[in-house]
Amino acid sequence: MGKEADSAREARVVSLLEDNVRTELQVTNSMLELGLSDATIERLMEGVTSGLLYAFNVDWSPDWVKPGQVHAWEEGGAFFARCSGCLRDSPPADSRASAEDWARQHETLHSRRSPVPYSAA
Ligand SMILES: [Zn+2]
Repeated sequence: MGKEADSAREARVVSLLEDNVRTELQVTNSMLELGLSDATIERLMEGVTSGLLYAFNVDWSPDWVKPGQVHAWEEGGAFFARCSGCLRDSPPADSRASAEDWARQHETLHSRRSPVPYSAA
């Protein structure tokens, strides 16, 4: 991928890491009835995330996505799939298969000659 696509992907990794840490804090806050405000959760999320990014090489690379497969999930009755290349998420789809089809079709747009920036396609 080109430089532009690389930095867009890095920004996407940071955003996914932030979402992941925030969700974990929200779940724990609720489960243990800690009573943390949204502002406090946001501060904690930023502290943990920046600490991790400062000292570790972080990438989105889940074990459950095998080579040739795409990450797909259901949320609020709609299905989504994620491009493993640029980490862009599909629009909401009626079925898992349809979301995965989007990701596979989208991934064919990526090539060494003409990388698709995160913002395109
Ligand atoms: Zn992509």
